Amino acid sequence: MADMVSWTGFAKKSPHERWQILEDNQALSQAGLDKLKRQELLPLETANQMAENLIGRLALPLSLAPDFLVNGQTYNLPMVTEEPSVVAAASYAAKLIKRSGGFKTEVHQRQMLGQVALIGLSNWQAAKKAILAHKDDLTQLANQAHPSIVKRGGGARDLTLAEKGDFLIVYLSVDTQEAMGANMVNTMMEAIAPKLEELSGGQSLMAILSNYATDSLVTAKCTVDLRFLSRNKEEAENLAKKLEQASQLAQVDPYRASTHNKGIFNGIDALVLATGNDWRAIEAGGHAYAATSGSYRGLSQWTYDKEAGQVKGSLTLPMPIATKGGSIGLNPSVQVAFDLLGHPDAKTLAGLIVSLGLAQNFAALKALVGKGIQAGHMKLQAKSLALLAGASEKEVPKIVQELLSAQHLNLETAKKILADLRAKRD
Ligand code: NDP
Repeated sequence: MADMVSWTGFAKKSPHERWQILEDNQALSQAGLDKLKRQELLPLETANQMAENLIGRLALPLSLAPDFLVNGQTYNLPMVTEEPSVVAAASYAAKLIKRSGGFKTEVHQRQMLGQVALIGLSNWQAAKKAILAHKDDLTQLANQAHPSIVKRGGGARDLTLAEKGDFLIVYLSVDTQEAMGANMVNTMMEAIAPKLEELSGGQSLMAILSNYATDSLVTAKCTVDLRFLSRNKEEAENLAKKLEQASQLAQVDPYRASTHNKGIFNGIDALVLATGNDWRAIEAGGHAYAATSGSYRGLSQWTYDKEAGQVKGSLTLPMPIATKGGSIGLNPSVQVAFDLLGHPDAKTLAGLIVSLGLAQNFAALKALVGKGIQAGHMKLQAKSLALLAGASEKEVPKIVQELLSAQHLNLETAKKILADLRAKRD
């Protein structure tokens, strides 16, 4: 379906023209397209059921980064972000990566972890022995607390123990199928806590899901041919070396790693948000994983393969994403996002999200080791300022042009340029 689409010039169209392109190319269902055209948003009554003390709703831009080639299939990725340049950068990277062969993804596992922290043990060895001897009973007890997930083919899979400080921690891994599984895992953990207390002779301090979802790791890989870094061979080689060094810098300096990973999450969060998922959970898991080695590191790695004439990128992080549950079915915009994606299952969606993170990271690093990011950013910043100053769609290009050559790029200047423009016209 999406293979037929020519996306050339998509960025320069108006939203109405973009809807037409989506329609012409059947990039989503008629029902989805109608929702998009009507700009159907979350109903107030539904929102009032989702959160407490409701007084309104807050809209954010929903954009499309088209033409991602992932595991041989083309996807158009909906992105929700308020930050200028993010979608443009993702689209640019997707184009280069597609021409170099696209992304390959691997879902290593798809299970969530819950934990019960036991305290006040008098005999640790006896407690551990008793718990492990009742492993099957405990997983059965967990499954009885949430039988519907077992009927769907999921359920508790394994139980392990770890001694950490004053705590004996019991971890339960659960196959949550298409759901993220926070509520179902929490229910299971609370259900087994009394039995664990009985077996260990201790008390449960807490029984809860862990967002450090190390049993939901997903990897995306890609290559970029050197010719796409620069037409000039020498310059391309230089950029490839610098990309590798930029990746190494994020491994050794947490100050850089934090910003490196923020760039990755620019893409990840945008698709996680568009699909109605819990982005705090994804962020928490990703940042914890970045610190697995004991110091906080960049989540991606880039290497320069001189022989192949390519740079090679790889990104791995926990991606316990859902296609069912939570608020996913409630928001019409989220339904449109799933429609655009072709209704992937959770594993496919996880691969798309990590691919987008890698694309975003590539675009940021390429800009950083090349021209720097400010040239592109400033143009978009100028556009935001023009809009903030009250410029109409027609006035924006002129204001942006003048703002970019002005001494101070700020709202005051934008307002002044707009006033001058209107005065000249009147
Ligand atoms: P839900 O409580 O919504 O449970 C998943 C739902 O999806 C169930 O009702 C299940 O139905 C339904 N479902 C339908 N089809 C499937 C399928 N194929 N596979 C799996 N489930 C299916 O959500 P989760 O348990 O996933 O919890 C996620 C929510 O919890 C999010 O809103 C999150 O923000 C929140 N949360 C997060 C926490 C954290 O991250 N630490 C803590 C607490 C809450 P059925 O029951 O019939 O099987």
